[in-house]
Amino acid sequence: MRLTKSLKEWSINKINKFEAGFLFQISLKRRSVASYTLDSLVKFEAKRLFKSSSYLFTVPNPTVFYLFLLLLITGCASKGGKKPVTTDRPGYRLLSISEASKWIITDKKEAFFDKVAPLEMSIQMKENREEDAREAVLVDYKKMLQKDLEEFSKEEKELTKGLFDRALELSYLINPKLKLPEIFLIKTAGKYYGSSVYYTRDNSIVIPTMMLTMDTDAAKDAFLATMIHEIFHIYSRYNKNKRDALYERIGFTKLPELNLSEFLKKRVLYNPDGVDLRYSITVKDKTTGREFEAIPAIYSRYKTYNPSLNAFFGYLAFQLFEVENQAGVWSVVNKDVGYSIDEITGFWEQVGRNTLYNIHPDELCADNFVIMALAKASNGENLDKLTEEGKQLVKDLEAIIAK
Ligand SMILES: [Zn+2]
Repeated sequence: MRLTKSLKEWSINKINKFEAGFLFQISLKRRSVASYTLDSLVKFEAKRLFKSSSYLFTVPNPTVFYLFLLLLITGCASKGGKKPVTTDRPGYRLLSISEASKWIITDKKEAFFDKVAPLEMSIQMKENREEDAREAVLVDYKKMLQKDLEEFSKEEKELTKGLFDRALELSYLINPKLKLPEIFLIKTAGKYYGSSVYYTRDNSIVIPTMMLTMDTDAAKDAFLATMIHEIFHIYSRYNKNKRDALYERIGFTKLPELNLSEFLKKRVLYNPDGVDLRYSITVKDKTTGREFEAIPAIYSRYKTYNPSLNAFFGYLAFQLFEVENQAGVWSVVNKDVGYSIDEITGFWEQVGRNTLYNIHPDELCADNFVIMALAKASNGENLDKLTEEGKQLVKDLEAIIAK
């Protein structure tokens, strides 16, 4: 999933519930989970819809993302989607509804559909199906995903192709032999995650309709940056050795297997771009100094879907959950709450501060990939804004991808 890091990159009318809500929930991380009420979230939502982004937390190091107005879109390859298809560079296609219907419900690489819990499907479908048999809910859930699909209009096709060509061009400047599959672009209304939430599934990038209204240069730049971010998710998914090496550089080690806690089994919400939760990071409890292994996870703060809280984001909580090795099997420690980022140390020190989008190592890497690609478009000008550690991180990640 792609959420904005700095709302300054968006025109206010492009801020959607999901994104604002996500940042909101991160901004509230200092408070205990118990202090949230349905009402306070709904009230916040109402306010937010009429006011600006000042409710949202300030990015301590809001580096790269809004210095590129007009710069990104003026590349040399934006001449209309025609690129020779070679085996090295399989290119991309915009899918019709009938083509997309197959791929939107197929996940061979991450097995999302084998994992997604009835509660998550209920929240996305906006129906109380928590107690129904998982298989039955899954059938209807897939139908809902298909029903949300839309056709690209002629104008949308033109615009999307121009920007996607540029996104691929910049990605290939990081490594001319970047191993990517043919990429499918799919258009969806965006009712289930939110109207400006992008995500990937296998080799497809799913684009919400609202984000195709690119009436400003800022919106075009944001779209381009997002496409680069999504291309990384696909790259990572189809190059799992690289994935592990990149995650390792930001402190995440792959666990051979992982049993979720009873709490998470029911409550987990799978980021479609970070379905694999088996990556742990060593952190320290700020209060006691105790060191432990933890995995980042998002989960629903409520047990059931509530019709008065419609937006998917309203359910999201992000925390780090302790994992332990019991006789060779890794399990999430069976507690209902994990650690908020502010309750631990050692996290930012490892993942770096180039982005705050920290809900999964793939998101952290995807944003660093955007920085790398933007450096190609700007002669490295965007890197000047990073700290020394930040620059080194980009360099190290790039070396892994370029190898
Ligand atoms: Zn993402």
